[in-house]
Amino acid sequence: MKLLLVEDNPADADFLAASLRRQRAGDIELVNVQTLAEAAAQLSLDKFDVVLLDLHLPDGSGLQCLDAIQAVDNEIPIVVLSGQDDEEFAVSILNKGAQDYLVKWEGQGRTILRSIRYAIQRKKSDIRLNYLAQYDPLTGIPNRQFFNDQLTRATARARRDGRKVTLLFLDLDEFKVVNDTLGYDIGDRLLKEVADRIRRTVRTGDVVARLGGDEFAVLLEGLSGPREVEAVATGLLEVVSRPYQIAERQLMITTSIGITMYPNDNADTQMLLKNADIAMYQAKENGKNNFTFFHQKMHADLMEYHALEHDIREALQLGQFHLAYQPKVNVHIHQLQGLEALLRWTSPSRGNVGPSEFIPVAEESGHIIPLGYWVLDEVCRTIRGWQDKGLTVVPVSVNVSARQFQQPDFHKRVAAILGRHGIEAGLIEIELTEGLVMEDTAAAQRELAELKKIGLRISIDDFGTGYSCLSYLRRFPIDVLKIDRSFVQEIGSSRDGESIIDAIISLAKSLRLETVAEGVETPAQLNYLLDHGCHVVQGFRFGKPMDVSLIEPLLAALGEGDTNSTAVRRVLKGFG
Ligand code: C2E
Ligand code: CA
Ligand code: CA
Repeated sequence: MKLLLVEDNPADADFLAASLRRQRAGDIELVNVQTLAEAAAQLSLDKFDVVLLDLHLPDGSGLQCLDAIQAVDNEIPIVVLSGQDDEEFAVSILNKGAQDYLVKWEGQGRTILRSIRYAIQRKKSDIRLNYLAQYDPLTGIPNRQFFNDQLTRATARARRDGRKVTLLFLDLDEFKVVNDTLGYDIGDRLLKEVADRIRRTVRTGDVVARLGGDEFAVLLEGLSGPREVEAVATGLLEVVSRPYQIAERQLMITTSIGITMYPNDNADTQMLLKNADIAMYQAKENGKNNFTFFHQKMHADLMEYHALEHDIREALQLGQFHLAYQPKVNVHIHQLQGLEALLRWTSPSRGNVGPSEFIPVAEESGHIIPLGYWVLDEVCRTIRGWQDKGLTVVPVSVNVSARQFQQPDFHKRVAAILGRHGIEAGLIEIELTEGLVMEDTAAAQRELAELKKIGLRISIDDFGTGYSCLSYLRRFPIDVLKIDRSFVQEIGSSRDGESIIDAIISLAKSLRLETVAEGVETPAQLNYLLDHGCHVVQGFRFGKPMDVSLIEPLLAALGEGDTNSTAVRRVLKGFG
């Protein structure tokens, strides 16, 4: 038996050690420390059977001592050592977690040993009682009290670190029928199996509890919004509704789920449970075997996401997308230098939908992958058409989203599309956002190398807005940095924006990369960029994204070296 004696008075410590030795209980090992700090260190290093704790220590006294030990190890039995004058106090803290107390200098060795053995026993039953107080005996998962504690803690953590807490309230549908027709025994076994399935469906850190009857609750931390929560909720609906094999019988049951999120539904612990309960009733009213958010807005957002997702899929099939092209001009030589292809969607029901509205949904749902290949195919088809007409062609940029770029066969499919239309790879520039390239460097590096081998140009879009580790840039085969519109807009008003632009331009120079400034709207912006060495610009001043039919005259004028034609002047109005 290993004892940790926390006692700073050497006389007291010696007396206790000597009394124990006299018992010739051979299996006792005693470690003596003088402070709470040392005790904490010992407890985390080694396994002890019991702590003998003085209540007047250099770094704490009274209840503080008990708290300090329990904070390191709340399963260790504690015997408090008291002087004659504070015996009453020692008794009073027995219900604070100490298992027994000894009055110093009073005990015989035998009394001390008995007290220690008793403390160990008592701690065991305390732990058991504690377990019973927090766990549901039927299913073995936490009960309502434990759940409430965890919920309070989780919301406190959420207030501190800004993460979200999600509460799902489950109530089985028609459970009463099972109980009434098949008996409580079958009902209990069904509840146990349901609890097991729920527990196995969620992640290890998530809390699953039985709140009573046929009600369960799940507590999730760190999910970002309704769509992530939806995935969990549909998973739960699915596992619960699978058939059960109980007592040679096949049973079916479903559940209704109410969901609330903190801090979206800013409420205290009890209100959160109540809100989830209200949402659960709503789910029952909506026909059971489904889930509902307490917050109507969240539900509406989710429904709108699904509607948009559906419409995007349909738009792909029906060919409702088209491309607009925005010129990039080299102001130095007054020439069209390239084009950027930008997606446009005209939906019969929604009208014109902007990319900032549908691209995020296309990304999340995965439609961006076929859509992205469609864009590339369309661009190649258009270039082929221009070349067949004998027009001079400039490189065209295509935006590629993370999900598409991360496809393992991305470069192969790009090569296949180029091949199908007989387009020279140097005519296509891939625009990737900064975060995308930096996120998974090893894989990104490999993919970029493959694209480069094919001969494509590579451009980093929205440069400066991400979390670039600039030294990475050296390792990537990049051709262009695009200075983000937000910095260009700050020209003349924010020194910070300007110094970021200066930094990007000089970085690009040192790495021998081109720079393109996007979103150029005013002469002041243009002059600043020119003065600082960036002379390829894109922006409303030189031309908005426009229909392909408007691009052809530009290409024709370019072929004739005519930068002053009416077509060019009309479109590239920012020139002179
Ligand atoms: P982006 O790649 O940064 O594209 C430039 C955006 O800036 C375009 O918005 C363009 O219309 C706008 N813009 C250009 N010049 C100016 C200007 O002078 N002032 C202002 N205020 N805006 C200007 P758009 O077309 O709405 O596209 C928004 C974003 O949608 C794009 O940002 C891009 O991230 C994404 N996107 C567009 N087409 C595609 C595509 O085919 N595939 C992918 N993955 N994303 C696309
Ligand atoms: Ca772009
Ligand atoms: Ca951009």
